[in-house]
Amino acid sequence: MTIKTSSIKFNRLISCLLLFFCSLASSALFSGEDEPQKKLTLLLWNIPSKGSNDVNTKADREVFDLFIKKHPHINVKTLVPLKIQGPASEGNQFMAVAGGMAPDVFDLYGRKVGDYIDQGFLAPLNDRFMNDFSGKGKNYSGVEAPDKIWEISARDGLIYAVPRSYYFLALMYRKDLFIKAGLDPSRGPNDWDEMWEMGKRLTFIPAKEPGSPQDQMPVYGFSLVRGLHQGWHFLQFVWSGGGEVVKSFKDCPSCGKTVPVEIPCFDYSKFGIKLVNEAQYADKFARKNDACPECGKSLSGVSEIKWKLVTNGEGGIAALEFYRKIASQPWLRCLSDHPRREFDITPEMKRSGTAECPECGEKYDLASDGVSNRIYEGIARSTMGAVRGERYDYAMQITQLGGVINIDLTKWDLTAFPSKKGCAPKSFIAGGYLGINRTSPPERQEAAWQYIKFMTSEDAIQMRVKAMVENGMAQYVRPLLLEKYGYIDYYRELPSAWIELNKKVSETAEVEPYCKGFTHVMTVSLGHPIDMAILYPESSAREHMEKICREVNSTILGKRPKEVMDRYKIYAYWGILAVAVLIGLAFGYIIRMKMKSQAVAPDLYIPGLTRKRRAMYAWTFLSVAVLSIAVWQYYPLLRGSLMAFQDFKILEGGKFIGPQNFIEVVLENNFWQFIYQTFFYVFLSIAMGFVIPIALAVLLTEIPTGQVFFRTIYYLPAVTTGLVTMFLWKQLMFDPSPDGALNWLFSLVGIPQQTFLESPSIAMMCIIIPGIWAHAGPGCLIYLAAMKCIPEDEYEAADIDGAGFFHKFRHILYPNLKALILINFLGAFVGAFHASENIFVMTGGGPVNKTMTVGLDIWYHSFLYLNFGFATAEAWILGAMLIGFTVIQLQILGKVEFKRAGRAGEN
Ligand SMILES: [Zn+2]
Ligand SMILES: [Zn+2]
Repeated sequence: MTIKTSSIKFNRLISCLLLFFCSLASSALFSGEDEPQKKLTLLLWNIPSKGSNDVNTKADREVFDLFIKKHPHINVKTLVPLKIQGPASEGNQFMAVAGGMAPDVFDLYGRKVGDYIDQGFLAPLNDRFMNDFSGKGKNYSGVEAPDKIWEISARDGLIYAVPRSYYFLALMYRKDLFIKAGLDPSRGPNDWDEMWEMGKRLTFIPAKEPGSPQDQMPVYGFSLVRGLHQGWHFLQFVWSGGGEVVKSFKDCPSCGKTVPVEIPCFDYSKFGIKLVNEAQYADKFARKNDACPECGKSLSGVSEIKWKLVTNGEGGIAALEFYRKIASQPWLRCLSDHPRREFDITPEMKRSGTAECPECGEKYDLASDGVSNRIYEGIARSTMGAVRGERYDYAMQITQLGGVINIDLTKWDLTAFPSKKGCAPKSFIAGGYLGINRTSPPERQEAAWQYIKFMTSEDAIQMRVKAMVENGMAQYVRPLLLEKYGYIDYYRELPSAWIELNKKVSETAEVEPYCKGFTHVMTVSLGHPIDMAILYPESSAREHMEKICREVNSTILGKRPKEVMDRYKIYAYWGILAVAVLIGLAFGYIIRMKMKSQAVAPDLYIPGLTRKRRAMYAWTFLSVAVLSIAVWQYYPLLRGSLMAFQDFKILEGGKFIGPQNFIEVVLENNFWQFIYQTFFYVFLSIAMGFVIPIALAVLLTEIPTGQVFFRTIYYLPAVTTGLVTMFLWKQLMFDPSPDGALNWLFSLVGIPQQTFLESPSIAMMCIIIPGIWAHAGPGCLIYLAAMKCIPEDEYEAADIDGAGFFHKFRHILYPNLKALILINFLGAFVGAFHASENIFVMTGGGPVNKTMTVGLDIWYHSFLYLNFGFATAEAWILGAMLIGFTVIQLQILGKVEFKRAGRAGEN
């Protein structure tokens, strides 16, 4: 006894001593923090890596090192957040803020700045500019971006972000291909007509040109962006067509009319921000209290600005028509030898069936094989398929010209993007911005400001230019910067078009729209008329445009009229009540069902315990599990459902708005289309995918030899991860070009060429196939295992009775596998409803939204458009529709009997 107690005491002493030394050591470690010069911490998402071979990263790193050197009191830490790749990567920072993992400095695209201001993520910088610049009589010039770039960063008299970089769009063209086509390589197209003519001349597909060497590389006149980002390039076309994309309006309080206004500008000069064209902005600012053009009363009291999509103007429609022409206008190359051999096939020629060359009068019978095979459609590769290898060339392409251009200037030349005849040249301009995270503690905000100030300072810019020049990349530096920092020799070597474009960009710039929700408009909404116009060449471009503008302006950019909302409010309340009752009933039913099955369980008798105490013990142990389920599952569920009734913002929480979100969802046409498509998707995946593993398993048990070999073959696809499988199929099998794997197979058996993921009619099927292919193996193994457990004697008995294959299947296999089949069926059913990842990777919901499911739409609404209330309401409506299925599922599961697998030795 004594030995034991003393050893306990000894242990205690040791641990006390350990604790003491630990605390001593830690206080010694941390005492450095209390030194007089206070160290500031700065959290960044990523810093340029050291020792990179990429010149850009190298230059970034040198600038960053200079920042560290000049700010020894700032301690930079990096966060490694969870990231999404691809087009939805813009959701990354949102999710990080929602998860409390946000950096102190936000690095943003211009179109996101508005959303960030809305959400209250950005700290206003007015005081900081006041203190550090105008208060000290200093000017801030930053990266000397065109003035328009600044507009995005201010709202209601507050400035939230600072431009870090900018780029603009221009046209680049291949000089060598111009020469080959007999065009003058010293200049690009001046207007759309010329672009179309040049594009035709440049387009050359050997298969359409009898007598030409067939091993020549096909050339397309223009690279047309399709898919999720097509709306974005389309804006350049709208502006070049003399159109506008969005316009701002105010509701006049006196006459009640909605009148166009100029957005109130920020008084930049007051804060020391130096603009290129200061006078113009000062003038705009002075005029910001303009009177209503209808009644003349002042509009200064109205702060709410309404944005409207106005691409249904003449410019926008001309742009859509030109877009369609590039993608699909049929034309022919005359076989006679004369200049200008390419001519359009007009609707009249199509109707009469004969095309006539306007230059030489040669006639072509459009129905004959020799001619119909030679008809070109547009000057662009009209598919959105993946670009693999170097199997075709583009002669003209839209390019981004920023601080750095990544094009080979020996091969390409640059020119302004051509406009419609008679319209002024325009260039789409967009910026990158830095802003301070409003939720960061004050000292870290201070460090963030130091960082932003430095990164856009003369020192940093000069350092960058130096690093680029020293690494042999002088030609990629903005020309005016080379001139400014004395690299005159390099400046003189630059192509004149590049210098010209840079000088003019301030005048031609049209800034990327930044009103709330525009990302949605650009990716999803504008994609729709473009797809429709190209898919249906006879349809009216104007109608498509009018329709989308109406839709966008009444939903995403605007609000539905209040009368509509009020009219539906009462129905919405009744609907929600009915659904709540239904859910309650279903829950009650499920609980009663469970209770019944529990009543059968025998009481466990434990000596010395009363029934009550036993129950108490049981609940004590259960409480841990019950609590954790309540906290991690049901609380978020309830909290989440509250969002459906709110206008929810990540930082500020929700504002109660009644059933508005539900009304919005139900009135949204797309929603019902997506519901239909979701059910279609579930039906297709079960119809196509459910039976295959069973069939495979049955076949495998029937073949006499090579079972192991086939099992391995079937299982192999499961080894690759899901996303890799998707990409594999997308790039190899579903490649829409004639030499895509499936198209090549089809050509062998005489099936016409397919466009797969780009075809509205079969895209949905194509999305499902890779999953089936990958899951058939593992699914089949599970059935195989179950089949192995069926006692041999049942088969023997069947054989003696002379039963055939179908009898054995019906009377032995099926009854034994029933439970497994049911469980797998439910799993597949639920899984299919939730599937969105594979759709996201394969098509992102396109073409024309034909593969969009509610699951994917919910994801888009919450993380891309930040419309959490809408997304939650959508989820609840889908959930309510599924409640019946859930009850049936539980009923079936309750009846399933599980059998223990018999071991071979037991029988
Ligand atoms: Zn008025
Ligand atoms: Zn001709």
